[in-house]
Amino acid sequence: MDATSNTPTVLVVLAHPDDESFPMGGTLAKYAAQGARVTLVCATRGEAGIPQLSAEETAQVRSQELQAAGTALGLAGVRFLGYLDGQLAAADPATIVGQLVDIIRALQPEAVITFGPDGISGHPDHLAIHRFTTAAFDQAGLSARLYYLAPSEATLQGCGVVPGRELAGGPVAAIDIADHLLAKVRAMQCHASQNPPFSGPPEAEAERLACHEYFTLARPISANGTGWTDLFEPALAA
Ligand SMILES: [Zn+2]
Repeated sequence: MDATSNTPTVLVVLAHPDDESFPMGGTLAKYAAQGARVTLVCATRGEAGIPQLSAEETAQVRSQELQAAGTALGLAGVRFLGYLDGQLAAADPATIVGQLVDIIRALQPEAVITFGPDGISGHPDHLAIHRFTTAAFDQAGLSARLYYLAPSEATLQGCGVVPGRELAGGPVAAIDIADHLLAKVRAMQCHASQNPPFSGPPEAEAERLACHEYFTLARPISANGTGWTDLFEPALAA
């Protein structure tokens, strides 16, 4: 794969290790399996996620878990921004947005995915990465698509949060992940420190997972339509 190929690039920007696998692991595995270059940027190393360990020990465990999950999903790479779990909202906006603009311009993604304004669970770090990524997307000035993770049965299963009724407003892409549930379960199970809810034999657990994950198109703002089943189709009018 070189820069001249037609390999689509998807950039995913999230707050914590495990934000990728539970609510959208099937979609990431699907596009990676189709040959897309899927890169994950994780703002923190999940330092607050293992109460009995120090922040540094937790960061080590959870970043290894995320690297393993990335391998299970077929991601092209995982990058960390180096912010602290629970303190993302206090990050200097100019600094973190600048980091993200640089990454977006370097990767030239066709699609960027992050949390929507609900943050799914409302976690302050999720809301913060939503704001920073949206600002960076707008500053980067690419003609790409920005998607927000939409509440669904998949996010309910992943986070234990009841889906909200309101989506972000644009077309919703319903991604059929039926053929990628095993990869999703395996990625979820990589996050062992978080006591993943589907912890039995992966083949059996895969049958219990929701078969679709949902994403709302946030940019371009003018896009409309219904019945989307793909992140890249239909083509948008220029
Ligand atoms: Zn999170």
